Amino acid sequence: DEEGKPARRVLLKLSGEAFGGGSVGLDADVVRRIAKEIGVAVRDGVQVAIVVGGGNFFRGAELSVAGMDRARADYMGMLGTVMNCLALQDFLEQAGVKTRVQTAITMGQVAEPYIPLRAIRHLEKGRVVIFGAGAGMPYFSTDTVAVQRALETGCEQVVMGKNGVDGVYDSDPRRNPDAKKLDHLTYTDALVNRLGVMDDTALAMCRDNDVQMRVFGMEGEGNVTRALAGEPIGTLITT
Ligand code: UDP
Repeated sequence: DEEGKPARRVLLKLSGEAFGGGSVGLDADVVRRIAKEIGVAVRDGVQVAIVVGGGNFFRGAELSVAGMDRARADYMGMLGTVMNCLALQDFLEQAGVKTRVQTAITMGQVAEPYIPLRAIRHLEKGRVVIFGAGAGMPYFSTDTVAVQRALETGCEQVVMGKNGVDGVYDSDPRRNPDAKKLDHLTYTDALVNRLGVMDDTALAMCRDNDVQMRVFGMEGEGNVTRALAGEPIGTLITT
């Protein structure tokens, strides 16, 4: 920017649950609001990469319990994330934000393939890059992919939007009324105490590569913008 300091570049992880507004499919009002809040941060100069989950459509593990082959079910899960990407792309463009979708499973008609150097170029030009289809590999989660994409595209922080909670607690706040919210913890704390922030693969990857993460609640108005701008909301997790 003008002061010569490098722009803040962050990776925003949005769960599919958020997009569904609590049920299967898309809640357009929710996606529109998220897109507007991202747009504010982008106009303030934040470079934003996004990984979107797909839990509002399919989760491979659940389909597998219902009798499907796990790997095939996981591919269905990955395809679901792409629908969320296209919805978010649409509402971002409506909000005046330039976007590109890149998918880990090639589908040239709807998105670019995942090309890291090209993604970085988009970010430098102020375009929001939305990564779809997870890692393109069964048995992974979009949380793990969020960490991987953040590392490969040089993001300084992963900001993880959560539904129904506003950060990380010392025990499950949905079950324990005395649960205390933590302002800061380490990845080892999260792993050892099984705090359920995200899966162990993603936590270990953050720890091993020294990635900073902020977990915040999606519900509060303006929270997405705040998290993208680097404000200290929710919980900070570090090595
Ligand atoms: N998935 C996968 N590999 C990946 C990312 C996702 O197989 O690299 C599948 C997996 O079945 C998962 C589904 O896609 O359950 C949706 O992703 P996720 O559950 O991470 O979405 P979220 O919980 O964030 O909505």
